[in-house]
Amino acid sequence: MTMPDYRSEAEALRPQLIAWRRDLHQHPELGFEVRRTAGIVAQTLGELGYEVRTGVGRTGVVALLHGGRPGPTVMLRADMDALPIQEINDAPYASQVAGMMHACGHDGHVAIGLGTAALLARHAAELPGRVLFVFQPAEEGQRGAAAMVADGALADPVPDAAFGLHLWNTMPMGRVVAQAGPLMAAADTLRITVRGRGGHGALPHETVDAVAVTGQVLSALQTIVSRNVDPQETAVLTIGTVHGGTAFNIIAETVEMQGTIRTFSPIVRETVLTRLRVLLEGVTAGLGATYELDVHEMTGAVVNDARVAEIARAAAVQVVGNTAVSWHAPLMVSEDFSEFARRVPACFMLIGSGNAELGLNAPHHNPRFDFDERVLPIGVALLATTAVRYLEAT
Ligand SMILES: [Zn+2]
Ligand SMILES: [Zn+2]
Repeated sequence: MTMPDYRSEAEALRPQLIAWRRDLHQHPELGFEVRRTAGIVAQTLGELGYEVRTGVGRTGVVALLHGGRPGPTVMLRADMDALPIQEINDAPYASQVAGMMHACGHDGHVAIGLGTAALLARHAAELPGRVLFVFQPAEEGQRGAAAMVADGALADPVPDAAFGLHLWNTMPMGRVVAQAGPLMAAADTLRITVRGRGGHGALPHETVDAVAVTGQVLSALQTIVSRNVDPQETAVLTIGTVHGGTAFNIIAETVEMQGTIRTFSPIVRETVLTRLRVLLEGVTAGLGATYELDVHEMTGAVVNDARVAEIARAAAVQVVGNTAVSWHAPLMVSEDFSEFARRVPACFMLIGSGNAELGLNAPHHNPRFDFDERVLPIGVALLATTAVRYLEAT
């Protein structure tokens, strides 16, 4: 079977894609509160003939397309939430909601997801397998993907592979990254409490000074990345806040610190966490104090499966040409697509959406963020081609 020319079919959808994107851009919603967006997604997918489930992980939408022939199930994911940022663009389609804006491009992801769904529905009879669309809420640090997984998004049917993409404004429009291995880092948040025994500032021998202990803890923690992590690997351990004490003449009983760990490999993450505990235990015990450590896994690393990434890369070459497919160094930012990628062989792609000449190259999460909308049909062609190539290769 020769593959349809998804690039030209997607280009024909461009006015519709732009209309979807601009409507969503004018009506941003945060976190799990993406009710209007999810409503539009569910209605559009229903009209396209998909089996639609709503309210998955509170406001997520799952939709299934049956191909005309039996085969595997491929999952495609789009995220729907905006950010609490006041937009300062004056485009006619600028956000109409004060203090909220699509500054990460998720409006574009929804438009690309809907366009891909429209294209694949048109070709359903030819597809050897099923396509499962997952539109998730709360990507921005609120674990929306985990909520959808916990609510059965991957249960019926269980997908055999998953793909997703992120518009990337620091890459020129139309460039694609689809590579095996780590792409985005795991993020953990930390809260450390050092507990001593408070007392009079002039009678230190009767106390255990939590501030003095914290000073030793802070310098000990600096040895984890520099002395324990393999220099060929990457990790960040940052303590962002230190709070303790109430007055100049009182020795503090407790000090509280907050921080974050970023890693790509589970082994490195384990090394950092183990050394963190050992150092906290040793330093505080040696100085007569105790500690509490609270680690919260915010997002796992996005690590692309080699075989599935190769299918995505071949699709990218077909859609944008060899010279527009490039390698990107792994990014220290995190993405909860990792919740899908840790359960299903997956590939997360970046698609360049920046255009410096048009001034459309502000970074993500910036109040001037906007992108070159000509990326939308390219994104549709990329996702559709990737999905079909996966189904036909499996
Ligand atoms: Zn973001
Ligand atoms: Zn994002």
